[in-house]
Amino acid sequence: MEQTDTADVTQSSIEPPKNDTPGEVTKYLRRMLDETECKVLHYQGWCKKCMLCIDVCPRKALAQDEKGFPHLAFPERCVACGMCEYTCPDMAVTVLELKRKAAKKAVSPESGAA
Ligand code: SF4
Ligand code: SF4
Repeated sequence: MEQTDTADVTQSSIEPPKNDTPGEVTKYLRRMLDETECKVLHYQGWCKKCMLCIDVCPRKALAQDEKGFPHLAFPERCVACGMCEYTCPDMAVTVLELKRKAAKKAVSPESGAA
């Protein structure tokens, strides 16, 4: 399949969990974090399509897909500010890029972490 810069292709590269238990979803999020370059993950099993995340994004990086779910339509615009994650009432958004940045900061020599 042809990949484009603007499609959130990495979100579909790992099979979503078969059930919506927190443990299974956490495993899925961890795989997305470790094995993809996906910046923002919308977990569709918990999303009710309220579109708050799309409205709040200051960079207009999110859009609805063909099924009406939000997704990161323009990854190059995303600055990992976290607004979409903080705003979602259903905890269906995870800004993976923010977590990667935090992890890098925690282990960098300048951080003072042991
Ligand atoms: S992290 Fe910020 S810039 Fe990126 S999609 Fe979410 S609200 Fe938009
Ligand atoms: S704010 Fe949450 S529930 Fe609403 S559309 Fe976005 S991901 Fe779905």
